[in-house]
Amino acid sequence: MSSNNEVTVTEAVERRAQGAKWIDVREPDEWATAHIADTTLRPLAGAVEAILEEHPDRAEPLNISCASGGRSMRVVEALESLGYTDVVNVEGGIRAWQAEGRPTVSEVAMTAEQVDRYSRHIVIPEVGIAGQTKLLNARVLLLGAGGLGSPAGLYLAAAGVGTLGFVDDDVVERSNLQRQVMHDESRIGVLKAESAARTIAKLNPDVTVEQYPFRLTADNVFEVLDQGWDVIIDGTDNLPTRYLINDASVQRGIPVVHGSIYRFEGQVTVFHPFEGPCYRCLYPEPPPPELAPSCAEGGVLGVLPGIVGSLQAVEAIKVILGIGRPLVGRLWMYDALDAETRTLKLRRDPACPACGEGERLTELIDYEAFCAMPQAQAPTAAR
Ligand SMILES: [Zn+2]
Repeated sequence: MSSNNEVTVTEAVERRAQGAKWIDVREPDEWATAHIADTTLRPLAGAVEAILEEHPDRAEPLNISCASGGRSMRVVEALESLGYTDVVNVEGGIRAWQAEGRPTVSEVAMTAEQVDRYSRHIVIPEVGIAGQTKLLNARVLLLGAGGLGSPAGLYLAAAGVGTLGFVDDDVVERSNLQRQVMHDESRIGVLKAESAARTIAKLNPDVTVEQYPFRLTADNVFEVLDQGWDVIIDGTDNLPTRYLINDASVQRGIPVVHGSIYRFEGQVTVFHPFEGPCYRCLYPEPPPPELAPSCAEGGVLGVLPGIVGSLQAVEAIKVILGIGRPLVGRLWMYDALDAETRTLKLRRDPACPACGEGERLTELIDYEAFCAMPQAQAPTAAR
């Protein structure tokens, strides 16, 4: 059924040499098994919508192919009815291509189950099979398996980040369950790191969880940090740990996605060593005891950590994949009561004791945990 909107493989190759884009409308698992290099995957169900958005010029030359030419012809006809004038079906699809002995690319690193599980990632050009493989090989350390670590850990596990480490020496308490959605009633009294491992094992068998059920100190922090982490998610609620992690991560060059919440307010930023400011660029030293934040429970809206922790997971994935513009040198602020967000610019301090141009801290410091009176509560220090 050759017609003026159908071309042979050879003609399709010639069209591409002259600038035509080539779109494959099969399913991700078919594409992963074998595809033609320099083609774009846009599965049939959303293909026309995607092409309308990505190729709005109705005169642009496009090659459309599938397994044997049936599905791609439906896309060609739909595009023609929408006014496209130079879109053609590749006769015989990839089967004709392979019958001519032409080479294909395959992605055998992933199982069929994985291609299915992550298919909604694989169709995103910024992720694709290569990005998903990166995520599966990535390692993210989460400081805290509580309010922020719960949504961040759940979404990173669902997204297929292959290894998650949880540092938390607490056990699950009933008052945690208003917001710490990784745990449940049956886990009360269980170590949070262990509860996290059990929840994630049920969610995604691809993910390995490493448990660190102790408090980080100057003596043990490098034992944990030197396990090859790509990024750290900081959901801690205490200043001594925050300074310790800042200094250790700057020395090791590991980016930290920082999040904090208090009542109805949340903040996120990315401390990427030497690419943007670190925590000490903003707060060179811990405050004196009389100005320190209160350790009294300030309260937090249960949903708020879901928003802030999820945004931390987004930033971690951007850092791992090297896509977009992570919140390096920018502080994202959210006020739930006003439903307002703001983003402030943050600058590196040349005099920073951790990452500045002068003499830098080389020793780690265990600051004393101290608390001020409740009225001195500061938004950046609540969990
Ligand atoms: Zn700094």
